[in-house]
Amino acid sequence: MEKTRIKTGLFGGTFNPIHIGHLALANYLCEYEDLDEVWFLVTPQNPFKKGDHLLDDYIRLEMVEAAIAGYPHFRASDFEFGLPRPSYTVDTLRQLARTYPERDFILIIGADNWAKFAQWRAPEEILRNHSIRVYPRRGYDLTIPASYTQVKAVETPLLEISSTFIRQALAEGRDIRYFVHPEVYRIIQEKHLYQSSNQP
Ligand code: ATP
Repeated sequence: MEKTRIKTGLFGGTFNPIHIGHLALANYLCEYEDLDEVWFLVTPQNPFKKGDHLLDDYIRLEMVEAAIAGYPHFRASDFEFGLPRPSYTVDTLRQLARTYPERDFILIIGADNWAKFAQWRAPEEILRNHSIRVYPRRGYDLTIPASYTQVKAVETPLLEISSTFIRQALAEGRDIRYFVHPEVYRIIQEKHLYQSSNQP
């Protein structure tokens, strides 16, 4: 008898830092949709892209790990750290499918990214091999044409927070403790992250 495949949502981002908007979305997808797990795929620094104020890869990963500890459906993934950079989603998906044949990888993207999906590298290959869940983003249409049977819009509640907002607030000396997981807040405080004006 064939074993049930593990439905694994892939949520990619820089997570600089991870905030409650990211966590609430992933939580919703596990509890209200049919995903077994969500993997937070931390995007590493791109050596060709300077000046984007991106903290060290392992500090961002540490914050993701701290934020998700104890919730069985989440995993922090450094998978892209070992791939050539920049890693295109199609390449990452190929490698993931090879490494974890027992899993189905389902892409989680915002309506803003879905609007640009046709311009991604090899969109047909992605659509052929993977399902996609599209979550709402303010100002973007969430309608998916019926011909895309493997793409589904998910009506998640939205928290209008961004990492940019948090970095900016910290640089201004504001207390953002309720915008991030308490353990993430602790790491930010301990390491004085984002707090100098040259860091946001
Ligand atoms: P930045 O402000 O640095 O661009 P961000 O908060 O948008 O960061 P990313 O790490 O780039 O965070 O986010 C990863 C993914 O999470 C992105 O595809 C983005 O669309 C999504 N995302 C960001 N903020 C939210 C939110 N508040 N709710 C749901 N999804 C979000």
